[in-house]
Amino acid sequence: MNDIFLGPPGAGKGTQAKRLTARFGIPQLSTGDILRKAVADGTALGKQAKALMDAGKLVPDDIVNGIVDEALASPIAAKGFLLDGFPRTVPQATALDEMLARRGKKIEHVLSLEVPTDVLVDRLSGRQTCPKCQTSYGKDTPPKRAGICDKDGEKLIVRPDDMPDRIRQRMLEYESKTALLTGYYTARSVVRTVDGVGTVEEVEKRILQALR
Ligand SMILES: [Zn+2]
Repeated sequence: MNDIFLGPPGAGKGTQAKRLTARFGIPQLSTGDILRKAVADGTALGKQAKALMDAGKLVPDDIVNGIVDEALASPIAAKGFLLDGFPRTVPQATALDEMLARRGKKIEHVLSLEVPTDVLVDRLSGRQTCPKCQTSYGKDTPPKRAGICDKDGEKLIVRPDDMPDRIRQRMLEYESKTALLTGYYTARSVVRTVDGVGTVEEVEKRILQALR
């Protein structure tokens, strides 16, 4: 299973990715994690990335692509992988196709978890976060005492990113960013859209059906 997982913030991608990777025994490769690991391991590319990040600069595509290439070459990815947060752009997708082709592989599915904006706004706008330990509480996971963190008794806040207007703006940004990428993979007939509204089990069932 060589797959990519797409979905806007709040769609439940993280939860589903954990279940999928456990079920199929494959790693979830998220760009942030891969980058942090390369930096921690002190690889040549990791060192270059760290120098740029320390200087407050963006890590350019050739370094990000190289780090993803190394992760794909590692034994844990031999049986397959679920990419999360990569590729973000068509040039990255093209680079990924080349990396995989060198190993006789290709992307099999691009899972796109879809949730209407209004549902996402409803899900996310109820979210409160502890400013001290960053634990977040939602409608399904409320704190024991309203407005107070269970772990340290700190007063909970609503982060600016979780305000309804900001959520709508984030969704628009997500859609405009992923439209070209989705188009690239649609042309290759690998996109599988999955309705992300429902319980974790219902959504998981749809994902498994989409992968058949
Ligand atoms: Zn807390």
